Amino acid sequence: MTSVPHSAPISTAHGAPTPASVPGHPHCHYRDGELWVEAVSVTALARAHGTPLFVYSQAAMLQALAAYQRGFAGRNATICYAMKANSALAILQTFVRAGCGLDIVSGGELVRALRAGVDPAKVIFSGVGKTRTEMAQALRAGIGCFNVESLAELDVLNEVALSLGLRAPVSLRVNPDVDARTHPYISTGLKDNKFGVAHDQALAAYRHAAGLPGLQVRGIDCHIGSQITEVAPYLDAMDRVLDLVDAIEGAGIPISHIDFGGGLGIQYHGETPPAADALWQQLLARLDARGYGQRHLMIEPGRSLVGNAGICVTEALYLKPGEEKNFLIVDAAMNDLPRPAMYEAYHAIVPVQPRAGQAPGKLWDVVGPVCESGDWLGRDRSLNVQAGDLLAVCSAGAYCMSMASNYNTRGRAAEVLVSGDEAVVIRQRETAEDQLLKEQTLPD
Ligand SMILES: *Cc1c(COP(=O)(O)O)cnc(C)c1O
Repeated sequence: MTSVPHSAPISTAHGAPTPASVPGHPHCHYRDGELWVEAVSVTALARAHGTPLFVYSQAAMLQALAAYQRGFAGRNATICYAMKANSALAILQTFVRAGCGLDIVSGGELVRALRAGVDPAKVIFSGVGKTRTEMAQALRAGIGCFNVESLAELDVLNEVALSLGLRAPVSLRVNPDVDARTHPYISTGLKDNKFGVAHDQALAAYRHAAGLPGLQVRGIDCHIGSQITEVAPYLDAMDRVLDLVDAIEGAGIPISHIDFGGGLGIQYHGETPPAADALWQQLLARLDARGYGQRHLMIEPGRSLVGNAGICVTEALYLKPGEEKNFLIVDAAMNDLPRPAMYEAYHAIVPVQPRAGQAPGKLWDVVGPVCESGDWLGRDRSLNVQAGDLLAVCSAGAYCMSMASNYNTRGRAAEVLVSGDEAVVIRQRETAEDQLLKEQTLPD
């Protein structure tokens, strides 16, 4: 890291004041009038690798992880990175080498996880719709725990395990019926969504699981949603889960680990989520008060470990001012950054080389080239920009590249991981030929 001041505005070469850092992005800052990720120039990366380009800071990821690790110091805790947030092998390796396990949601993610060198015993398998094939794959790999989401799934997992002569380690994902007060599409802990076993059916489900010879009850799990910015929903969920642990153990079924899921939010646009260590200080105090502080604890954070460690660099292609709206058309699109289209999510968009002077009074809708009106990245943004300029879409480390698609036969972007003054291409840009590989033309 360089010793650039992070608070005071710095003057650019053109004399225009620019912000010294990017809000929420500890390892992104302006120096000499341009944006840097750690000690690497974003402009140089875009020149070398083209756009759209995802750039990640490894230091930012490790710093986010360190907050959890501080929070759990002296405890028996396992941090399982929820890899669906960003499943690039190099990012998995970053967390695995730092001691993490991985939370997977598909057989494909299991293959990635193993390729990244994770200890299978530190893999937990979440998700409402595991297939028999995926169950068998994970059993053979010797994963640490299946987080089971329904009675029907318990029965199928029991059958699959018995057919392999194995016992499946299980937790039940219970639905604590608390409101995580986040976007409805990313809230998962309420009664009316598809996730988990209802709180009032959980004890019966544990009795059922304990009676199945192919299963071995290990723990209990909950995950109440994503982009949670308050402590209260976590405390509520924890109380509800601990009530269940009391009841389940009272029924003679020991629970060896308690998994509190993921969901901690990040700063996209002025949110002020608690820091991971501060959150866990409060949660551990509650656990201690209820006598569970020395249990094996597990968590499954995704977004909070990677979200603000990444930006997506895009080039402004065309300015299209209009009567009602001014459109700024860029070369990144909804296939690269699906969150605005999916959830109307906000991503900050900042210039890579801020231009001198005030932004003209115009507000821009930043949109991509895809043939959908839903293909927008930001609305009504004040930007002083011209065609050819580079922009950085912020908070692009989580649920961007991992949700990217080939819609419009657009190749998925390249990804670069920065560490200090080094930048490594961790995924090459996808070509049209890559996309055609599995296809078959009709015979003449
Ligand atoms: C997605 C998911 C997570 C991670 O959620 P974040 O909001 O990214 O922290 C954890 N556990 C389960 C079961 C999930 O589905």
